[in-house]
Amino acid sequence: MNVRTILATKGSDVITIRPHQAVREAVRLLARHNIGALVVVDEAGRPVGIISERDIVRAAARHEDRDVCAMLVEEIMTRDVVTGTPQDDVHSVAHTMTERRFRHLPIVEEGRLVGIVSIGDVVKAQRDLYRGEVDTLQTQIMADEPQNAS
Ligand code: AMP
Repeated sequence: MNVRTILATKGSDVITIRPHQAVREAVRLLARHNIGALVVVDEAGRPVGIISERDIVRAAARHEDRDVCAMLVEEIMTRDVVTGTPQDDVHSVAHTMTERRFRHLPIVEEGRLVGIVSIGDVVKAQRDLYRGEVDTLQTQIMADEPQNAS
């Protein structure tokens, strides 16, 4: 199964924010959409970073003397954003997210943002895959049982 299959179910909507917007706006968007990260995009819609709730918590801990909500997204976002493609295999995406310790992977095709997958989407896709494999094996075992032999 690849990322394109996940996006076919969950859609290609990505909630984005610009680098010069305030963290306050990022907090509002995260809460309104019930999500954990926003892709930070330039004027052409290309990803230039990612800001997750973890970045906001870290900034609040690091800058106890400042109003983190008044800071700019670009001050606390992660700039080296790792992206995937629709062709990526679900298992390799799970491996990347686990090894790199992040829970969000923006999906890019021909330089365009075409979706985002979260670790929750990946775990669900893997569970569905394994369920399908278990069903197939059970069907094969039942077909091979002696009483079913002709
Ligand atoms: P997360 O687990 O996704 O909430 O993010 C944990 C940390 O990794 C935060 O500092 C994020 O900015 C960063 N992060 C999340 N997703 C990515 C990604 N795809 N590429 C690079 N950094 C990321």
